[in-house]
Amino acid sequence: MRMTDAQMYDRFLASDASYNGRFFTGVLTTGIYCLPSCKARKPKPENIRFFPTCEAAREFGLRPCLKCHPDDFERGADPVLETIETLVSEIRATPQNFSDTRAIVRRSGFGTTRVFELFRQHFHTTPADLLLQARLNAAKNALLATAAPILAVAQDAGFESQSSFHEHFRQFTGMTPAAYRKLAEPGTRRFEIALPKNYSLAHLLRTLARDPHSVTEKVDGSTYTAGVRLNDRPAVLTLRFGPQAVEVRFTCAGPGGSAPAAHALVANILGLAQDAPAFVRLTRRLGLSRLVAGREGLRLPQTHSVFDALTWAIIGQQINLPFACLLRRRLIERASAPISDSGLHAPPTPEAVAALDPADLLPLQFSRRKAGCLIDAARLVSEGKLDLAQLAALSATRAERTLLCIRGLGPWSVNYIMMRALGFGDCVPYGDTGVTSGLKALFKLDIRPDADATRRLMEPFSPHRSLATAHLWQLLQPQPINPFKT
Ligand SMILES: [Zn+2]
Repeated sequence: MRMTDAQMYDRFLASDASYNGRFFTGVLTTGIYCLPSCKARKPKPENIRFFPTCEAAREFGLRPCLKCHPDDFERGADPVLETIETLVSEIRATPQNFSDTRAIVRRSGFGTTRVFELFRQHFHTTPADLLLQARLNAAKNALLATAAPILAVAQDAGFESQSSFHEHFRQFTGMTPAAYRKLAEPGTRRFEIALPKNYSLAHLLRTLARDPHSVTEKVDGSTYTAGVRLNDRPAVLTLRFGPQAVEVRFTCAGPGGSAPAAHALVANILGLAQDAPAFVRLTRRLGLSRLVAGREGLRLPQTHSVFDALTWAIIGQQINLPFACLLRRRLIERASAPISDSGLHAPPTPEAVAALDPADLLPLQFSRRKAGCLIDAARLVSEGKLDLAQLAALSATRAERTLLCIRGLGPWSVNYIMMRALGFGDCVPYGDTGVTSGLKALFKLDIRPDADATRRLMEPFSPHRSLATAHLWQLLQPQPINPFKT
């Protein structure tokens, strides 16, 4: 649909990056043309003319803006982003070569403020936090794959002291390095993960139980059982929660070696990588502690796989939660088999969904468009055109652009996937009624905020907007009952 000049001017005033590429704004007074997202001063509407392409703007005699680089965007090139992505790949491959944030700044060639801004914008994190995660990943790999002493593992990954290594390792994995190393022992089917202090377990259990008729997962008291895939094989995962720790067990067909995968899955479900205390401190600084009151330890549980989030984001659009759950159950029953005698289904593979025809899903009450989008997306994955495993390693900017190219995914679903499955910490699912209702209540507004107001109200929560979203979703819900409160 063609946009009117008034609509384009409105998006240009809002610096709305989601409209980049859909039009270009020529500024007649300065003779330059810009992306909608450009942060340069906004001219009056009478001094503006809109163009469908860069070429049209150039033919009119305008030059590309040196702040927002519209030609680079149109070509798909983004030199600044590429520089930061290359730097991040280097940090992740060899964290031991970067002693601290200063070393990252030196290597980048940018100034300190600019580097922090670029890390926040493109990776939703700080250089220090990204370096820490890179060191932890290097250490985890070394623990599983080598027999090196733990002290050497810590040093090789770039940790300066053994105590800081142990502390961070426990915080993000819920295990000691020694216990984590045992996951590599063949036949390991049981281990324990310590929960972070003040963990909001009641909220997690409520989220996991949101479809009481689910065919892939069930919550019984403080026990959670789910059909999952570990290293591409169907498995039944059982989590027995205690007040401070969770006991993880799983059964899996075939040979061993799945315990590290099970650990990674459970750490994601628990949201261990999310910095809940930092978000709580931010709300205090903003004078908005009421957003987190009573659930300071809340994390955003990650879906079992990126494909789960992708299918859920397509299924859940424009319908209510019970109907979305019903469609999801029907898809699972149609495209996957129950796991032995557990009574639970494994989630369907992209291949199984790709093999369906839209006509298979229409009798299950899928709309023709929804069925088509779902099967098309599954085909992109099964044909290797969309690498879901690789998405989380990309920059947030690149992941967002990749997902936005998929038919059926708009800004809401893309942000939903990025926050629920790729672990990006600074996303907002724009247009989400839970978010707008939450903001209306939090700021005591008379009406629900529109897209621009939502953007403005969410801005102060950066770089923790995913956690802000998680709290807004809970704000109007009754507090769940803590299973261990006496
Ligand atoms: Zn510009």
